[in-house]
This record gives sequence, C-alpha cells and structure tokens, in this order.
Amino acid sequence: MRYISTRGQAPALNFEDVLLAGLASDGGLYVPENLPRFTVEEIASWAGLPYHELAFRVMRPFVAGSIADADFKQILEDTYGVFAHQAVAPLTQLGANEWVLELFQGPTLAFKDFALQLLGRLLDHVLAKRNERVVIMGATSGDTGSAAIEGCKACDNVDIFIMHPHNRVSEVQRRQMTTILGENIHNIAIEGNFDDCQEMVKASFADQGFLKGTRLVAVNSINWARIMAQIVYYFHAALQLGAPHRSVAFSVPTGNFGDIFAGYLARNMGLPINQLIVATNRNDILHRFMSGNRYDKDTLHASLSPSMDIMVSSNFERLLFDLHGRNGLAVSALMDEFKATGKLSVADDRWTEARRLFDSLAVDDEQTCATIAQVHAQTGYLLDPHTAIGVKAARDCRRSQALPMVVLGTAHPVKFPEAVEKAGIAAVPQLPPHLADLFQREERCTVLANDLKTVQDFVSQHGNRGKPL
Ligand SMILES: *Cc1c(COP(=O)(O)O)cnc(C)c1O
Repeated sequence: MRYISTRGQAPALNFEDVLLAGLASDGGLYVPENLPRFTVEEIASWAGLPYHELAFRVMRPFVAGSIADADFKQILEDTYGVFAHQAVAPLTQLGANEWVLELFQGPTLAFKDFALQLLGRLLDHVLAKRNERVVIMGATSGDTGSAAIEGCKACDNVDIFIMHPHNRVSEVQRRQMTTILGENIHNIAIEGNFDDCQEMVKASFADQGFLKGTRLVAVNSINWARIMAQIVYYFHAALQLGAPHRSVAFSVPTGNFGDIFAGYLARNMGLPINQLIVATNRNDILHRFMSGNRYDKDTLHASLSPSMDIMVSSNFERLLFDLHGRNGLAVSALMDEFKATGKLSVADDRWTEARRLFDSLAVDDEQTCATIAQVHAQTGYLLDPHTAIGVKAARDCRRSQALPMVVLGTAHPVKFPEAVEKAGIAAVPQLPPHLADLFQREERCTVLANDLKTVQDFVSQHGNRGKPL
C-alpha cells in the first residue's frame, strides 16, 4: 500500500515510512492511495471472529508490503490482549435499538488505547528491523498522554517525552501518566498552559538540531496508523448488530475528526453505515460545517468534555480531500485560504455530498449533564461526558428508528468525575480493578520552566533510556 498527501505535492510513502512521518512535507496529511474494498460475502464471513483476528483482516491491506502477516498477527494479538474485557470493545444496550460501544476497556480507560497500544508495538517492530531508535515528543491536556505512554512503555527503541501543564490536569489523569515507570518514559510538567506545551512540540519538530540526528516521531491524531486502528471497531460493532445484511448508524463524540473519519473509511471499505453523526461540545467548528457549510475558527471554550476542546479539527482535511475528488491542489488552496482568513466553505454540491452521510449536533455542558442524568435514571448506566454528547446527538439526529444506532463510548466516567457530580449523581464511579491502587502508586515527573531550551536540553540529556543522546 502507498500513501499520498492531501496536498498533492509530497512524495508517496509506504506504510513503514508513513508510520514514522508526521505531516507530509507539503503540509498535508497522508491517506491511502487506494482504499481496500471488501465484498458483502467477505465481511459476512468475519462474523464472530475474536477482535484481534478481525483487526488482522481489516487492516492487512494497509500494512501490506511493510509488515509480514505472521508478525502483524502476533502484534495484534499482543495489542488487544491487554484490554481488560474479553470482548475488547463490548456493546451495551441503552435503549430501543440504541447501543454504547465501550471503547474504554483498555489500560488508560479511553478509546485512544485502541490506536496507541498498536502504534507503540508497530513502531518497535519497524525500528528493530531498521536498527534505529526514535524520540517521541507530545503535549497533552489529559487523555492522549497516558495512552501514548502506556502504548510505548514496553518499546525498546522508543524514548517518550510527554509534556502536560503543571497542576492543570486532573489527579487521575496525572497519575495515569506519572505512575508508569520506565527508563524510556519521561513525564514533564511545564510551568505553563497546554498551548505552551504544544508550541514547544511544534518548535521541536521545526528545528531538530538538539536531537543530534535521532528521529522525532509524532503520536498525535494525524498519524495515519491511529486512524487505521480505529476502523476496526466499526466493523466489530456492526457485525454484531447484523451487518453486512443490515445497515447501522454511528454517533461519534468528535474533536479532531479522527475517530469519525475512521467510520467514514469503514463505510467506503464496504461496511453498510447509513448515517454518521458528528457530536461536538461547545467547540463546534465541525457542527458549523455540517449544518451550514461554514468551517470558521472560533475561540476556545473550556468544557466538561475537555478531550474535545479544540479550535480547528486537524483530520478534517482528509475529508476535504475526498470531497474535492482527491485533488491535492484544490485542498492546498482551501487550506491556504483558511490559514489566511480563519474561514472555509466548499461548493454547494460538495457540501450536499457530505450531508448525505453526516449529520451533526453541538451539545453544551448543561445538556451533557442532563443526558448523563437522564440515562442514569432510565437505566442505571453511567456515561462519561464525551459519550453523553454522543448519546444526545444520536437521540436528536437519528434518521431511522429501525436501524441500530451505536454511540461510541470514548471514555470511562471515572476519568471525569466533575461532570458526573454536576449531573447530580451521588454514586462516585470506581476505578476498575487494574487501576484500583492508582492513588498509592509511586509517581515520577520532572517540573520544568516554560522555556524551549530548558525542555530541549532535558530531552537531549535523557533521550537514550535516561542517558544523553
Ligand atoms: C480524543 C477524545 C475524543 C475526540 O476524538 P477525535 O479523534 O479527536 O475526534 C473524544 N472523547 C475522548 C474521551 C477522547 O479522549
């Protein structure tokens, strides 16, 4: 499989190189040159497969030519073997023809484990083959950091540096990062805010001299391998609900358009998905596009669903590429316009095309809490605030009551106690057994000044399993 840039000017890469690349050299994002398409018979034959075996069948075409079948099978078995629930991604019924796909049974209790557990193992495999070591740098306001660290903790060839804003992440989130101990794991608390952390990551990618030749790798949601891993659970859920002989709808809590883009790809690969609902919080740039063809940058609003607090949606460019007949120059022009004006809209027929599949809703904090309370009263089931946004959007926007509606359950409620409390629910969610002693575990973290050189010196002093690069 070859991968091409959404802006049409960067060289095509194979899977191995795309795994190690961040943005394409023309500023675009990598996408598969040709999407595999499965027949109804093929998809039907996968019913009942264990998660890792289904994952092998769905993802095999994407890694073909870079990773041998036997190796890939083993990697997938290891990856999904660490999930606490035997079903890996269990479905729970909430209402009539309405389900939550629980994607929070992994080590850090959020859906990002599906991609980052795999990414860490794929990186290690490829790097061992090339006899190369890399450094990962990332900024996190919560979820991504712990999932990335958990995904990389066993990697022999990776040192990972995750920056979080000092004293500005929740205690559960901090402990999920800082209690993972290992010579190759480096938690940095920056005396600044999340944007400061992110700016330092960006500046480090732009000028990598401090790394003395070691390659820097990104694990943010633009990484193709993350999207690829997320395609699988759409197949997994739909197969259990009667696909490919019956269509299924999905409602997806969205920030960077990564998770829902994976659903869009699943549909283009042959899975009968009749509707995809974009569910946002107050940071609703995607809802503004889907409802009115206006992708306009707004200010950032802090919400009770912080993992979806974004101003621009980095994976949206991948959809724009398809909406423009995969014309990289057209996308490039649009993105230039967006950069200059903070606004973007597409021709009417292209927008209408998007609306054939996508609906959307923006859900504020009040409605989020009301949904948590409503579902808890109806069923006793406790939603996290991100998933609650998905449920609200599913209930308001679904096109067919007769088809199954699956809401992606993106996080465990224990990670977001503030929203549960505000919903007026007295029962405090409990940590699952594998994290029950989280508050007793030893923490390791370095507090650094909000200063690029200080951070880069730290990385070059510790980037080789705690020793200098
Ligand atoms: C990251 C995250 C999201 C948003 O996912 P995108 O791929 O950015 O759309 C939603 N919910 C939770 C809990 C997350 O951690």
